[in-house]
Amino acid sequence: MSGLNEAQGILEKVFGYASFRLSQQEIVDSLIAGKDALVLMPTGGGKSLCYQIPSLIRPGVGIVVSPLIALMQDQVIALRQQGIAAAALNSSLAPEEAQQVKQQLLDGELQLLYVAPERLMTEGFQALLQRIEIALFAIDEAHCVSQWGHDFRPEYIQLSALHENFPRIPRIALTATADEPTCREIIQRLNLSHAQHFISGFDRPNIRYRIASDNSNTRQQLLRFIQLDYPGQAGIVYCLSRRRVEETAAWLQQQGISALPYHAGFSQQQRAENQSRFLREDGVVIVATIAFGMGIDKPDVRFVVHMNLPKSLEAYYQETGRAGRDGEPAEALLFYNLQDVITLRQFVEQSDADEAHKRIESQKLEHMLGYCELTSCRRQALLAYFGDELQEPCGNCDICLDPPKTWDGTVAAQKALSCVHHTGQRFGVSYLVDV
Ligand code: ADP
Ligand code: ZN
Repeated sequence: MSGLNEAQGILEKVFGYASFRLSQQEIVDSLIAGKDALVLMPTGGGKSLCYQIPSLIRPGVGIVVSPLIALMQDQVIALRQQGIAAAALNSSLAPEEAQQVKQQLLDGELQLLYVAPERLMTEGFQALLQRIEIALFAIDEAHCVSQWGHDFRPEYIQLSALHENFPRIPRIALTATADEPTCREIIQRLNLSHAQHFISGFDRPNIRYRIASDNSNTRQQLLRFIQLDYPGQAGIVYCLSRRRVEETAAWLQQQGISALPYHAGFSQQQRAENQSRFLREDGVVIVATIAFGMGIDKPDVRFVVHMNLPKSLEAYYQETGRAGRDGEPAEALLFYNLQDVITLRQFVEQSDADEAHKRIESQKLEHMLGYCELTSCRRQALLAYFGDELQEPCGNCDICLDPPKTWDGTVAAQKALSCVHHTGQRFGVSYLVDV
């Protein structure tokens, strides 16, 4: 059987899907042929199959690098249910268990191995890998290698050595969020200059984008949104601070919504429990900081609400992208207020990062603001930011659905500035308004 037919067969028989999506098929082909690949595909696009299927077809084991232990476990369980010999190697294993996985590797019993980057790059493990047959290396969440990205993980930097240690093994780097500079950095740091690029459309047409201006009544607005538009449905509500997470979750609970809080201040066990209730029960609303969500694969999340402004469009896109992975209508609602802008600017100012980094962060924030202040289709602007073009306004964002009234403010602005000037440029807004 040719590689291609074999891939189609596995897609149907092992995974139970009729056809490949987006560029999955080309990516699979290219890996089977032993070539490197760089894959940019939106969340929910189906990145996993791109390396899982070639791992089953090529001789040897597919090694998947992933930064998230919880995600690894989920994937391994799912794969085993499909009859695939998969295992994970990370810090949650007892030494005997880890030893057992290594033995399976040496005996050639595994088809897929998920491994944390710091494990993979130890000398001992690299030596072990030299003794076995390897189908490919998949580097998931590849934007973690970029210092300009928003999830930088120092341990990813070492992955550049894979190319030197295993020059003949194809590598595939995958991410759902990378602007141009981040992409260039991935290519450079992971030595992927010969990789074929597969950039799939970023559009998530089933997600409706909406921005509401935040007035004092945001909580009530949130409650009405959940009760009227999405009663009994699963959703994620993002807040900037842990305190706001707890307050919002508690208040929603009082209003009869099954809401659960999640942030990095809770114990590991508490977080795992709330996450698993969100994944397994119906209609749970998780109220969380951005600590929640990477690698979460829940197809029927109907809404993602941002109670505070995200710090970049990358973050916004990634977080809203957790809605509607099943392709059914879903909604991304953002409450926008100027206080957040001030807070986020302060975060940037006060961070320990160097000047160049701060400049990039504040540019990202400006783009985010620009998006909130738009008077034209949001989806067009969002996609344009990622280098993707949408010809026509989308018809499924707040601006397309309810266009704002615009007016020529030149004269009013001149008058306002003149007032600032004539009062000596010393007074605040309220005084100037009185004048
Ligand atoms: P990503 O990692 O890109 O966010 P996943 O690999 O987790 O996406 O896939 C998202 C969902 O789409 C999963 O539930 C997966 O089983 C499903 N899926 C992937 N490829 C296909 C396909 N060709 N046909 C149907 N469903 C698919
Ligand atoms: Zn639109």
